[in-house]
Amino acid sequence: MLKSLLKVALTQTPAWKVASSSWRPDGVTVLMYHRIKNETDPFPGTDARTFEMQMRWLKKNCNVITPEQLGDVARQPPRSCPAVLLTFDDGFRDYHDNACPVLRELGFTGLVFLATGAMDDEILIWTDAVTWATHATRMASVTLPWDATQRMAIDDEPSRHRLAEACKRFLKDIPDQQRKAWLKQLTQALEIDPDDGTLPRQMLSWDEVRATMDCTFYGGHTHNHPIMSQLDDATMEAEIETCRRRIIEETQVAPRYFAYPNGRARDFTATTQALLRKHGFELGFSTIEGIHHDGDDLYAIRRQNTAGNTLGDFALRVIGR
Ligand SMILES: [Zn+2]
Repeated sequence: MLKSLLKVALTQTPAWKVASSSWRPDGVTVLMYHRIKNETDPFPGTDARTFEMQMRWLKKNCNVITPEQLGDVARQPPRSCPAVLLTFDDGFRDYHDNACPVLRELGFTGLVFLATGAMDDEILIWTDAVTWATHATRMASVTLPWDATQRMAIDDEPSRHRLAEACKRFLKDIPDQQRKAWLKQLTQALEIDPDDGTLPRQMLSWDEVRATMDCTFYGGHTHNHPIMSQLDDATMEAEIETCRRRIIEETQVAPRYFAYPNGRARDFTATTQALLRKHGFELGFSTIEGIHHDGDDLYAIRRQNTAGNTLGDFALRVIGR
């Protein structure tokens, strides 16, 4: 009850000024988006109209910065107008279609982390392949390839959603080669080929990347979107190198920023961080929740998920609550 009253109050300027200056006096809120989607899209993400509302609210109430300003702004003394950096993971086509027009109008800059292999091959990143296969299957039940003891009913949308989440949870925590093999068996069991052309292109094209560089910094997000901590060192380095090389080849600009796929503390290692440094990346973004402060690890930068439906939810995320 108290929290919902607080959320409503926070969208009003006087309460926001008090809350933001006392609860979040310094640091930078790095907001994390994925898809900025149309209502009918089968994938999770932020609805395009909600995104626009959030951006207009930021314009009035916050200081939206570029990644180049992160270090300087984090060092600045407390201020009443919170600094916010906008980041978008994976490189979805709807960044070009739905996010950029809003960013341009408001004079904002986005930082987009590209999974370059999915773009090159016009395929789904593997977590989306799981989502799509479980959503599109005509099967009424399935036996998981890695657990033959259980046959799961998937005859309605909630049960298919539960299946997708359970599969992703399992597949994220196993070695990458094993993950690939299980994923193939899963999509076969569901009788779906996620890359058979049924879906319109989901990832940005390189032409769209080049067309949006006026309002965008492009960063790396690996080539094949594996969980870095599930790779051997040579494969980990190849993922970073290939991603970097493809971005340079296509944009003529060396990427300086990187986001770890999935991004939890256990999804990357000290070796991942050292390899990023070695290959010229200056900042590494995690999905560990919180506000970035001066002195924090620059290769494990915290980000705030933007989940939530109201501006009150959003305001709370901005101030780290
Ligand atoms: Zn990702």
